[in-house]
Amino acid sequence: MSFHDEPTSAAAKRPVALVSGGSRGIGRAIVAQLAEDGYDVAFCYFSRSDAAEEAEREAAKAGARTFAQRVDVADAARTREFVAAAEAELGPLDAVVTAAGIARDRPLAMMDDTEWQDVVRTNLDGTYHVCRAAIQSLIKRRVGRIVTLSSIAGVYGGVGQTNYSASKAGIIGFTRALAKEYGKFGVRANCVAPGFISTDMTAAVPEAASRKYLKQIPLGRFGAPEDVANFVSFLVSDRSGYITGQVLGIDGGLTI
Ligand code: NAP
Repeated sequence: MSFHDEPTSAAAKRPVALVSGGSRGIGRAIVAQLAEDGYDVAFCYFSRSDAAEEAEREAAKAGARTFAQRVDVADAARTREFVAAAEAELGPLDAVVTAAGIARDRPLAMMDDTEWQDVVRTNLDGTYHVCRAAIQSLIKRRVGRIVTLSSIAGVYGGVGQTNYSASKAGIIGFTRALAKEYGKFGVRANCVAPGFISTDMTAAVPEAASRKYLKQIPLGRFGAPEDVANFVSFLVSDRSGYITGQVLGIDGGLTI
């Protein structure tokens, strides 16, 4: 469903970005920042239409045309439909950011198959589905900036996170392969690997564990969604025109 009720114009001058998981947390901050940067923004979300409406309103205040739909990125056909509808509504995509993600933490010895599958299907398959649906259009127009969301868990592994770490490590390989395949078509693909960012996802981390993380962060604070959004804004801009295939940590120094 679209909350956007302005008539659309095929002659829109603003570049167009598509963000998966744009209703809350990091994805939402990215939607807001890209709207500020001058993009029209399409995004999808899983179930929280209240949060999606707020995100749309916020982006519209910055002057962006918006297009939001409820989509499970684990569903390939539905994701294809969404990407096509976003392009039909806002115009061809210039930037794609895959932020939709979930965690279902549990030690491997206790993990059930559903917890494994849900995480891999949403995070890794979801990233593939969004990029697969968008790539042809980017190649054809010889433009495209893709940013995928990995995690420090995808680089170093996280305790109780074999499913999440595997999905996020997969995203790194996927993004690097994408950068190699399509660099010659003008498509850049980079991956960000946030550390501990304050969102609903990390609100689920037990207090004692959060305190322990905090002690290990040289900058002495958890990250804000805007810390990631600012960097994504740079990665989709011309200012990062010679950067592709990279995995860039945004973690306050947690991993050094
Ligand atoms: P969040 O606050 O839980 O927000 C997740 C977003 O993804 C929401 O907009 C949610 O939609 C959407 N989403 C979830 N499952 C989806 C699905 N199947 N299809 C479409 N949309 C879906 O999470 P976050 O902390 O912002 O995390 C965003 C990304 O950054 C994730 O990929 C996460 O793994 C990664 N990351 C986060 C951290 C951190 O510390 N927070 C660190 C490293 C990496 P609804 O609102 O409808 O549920």
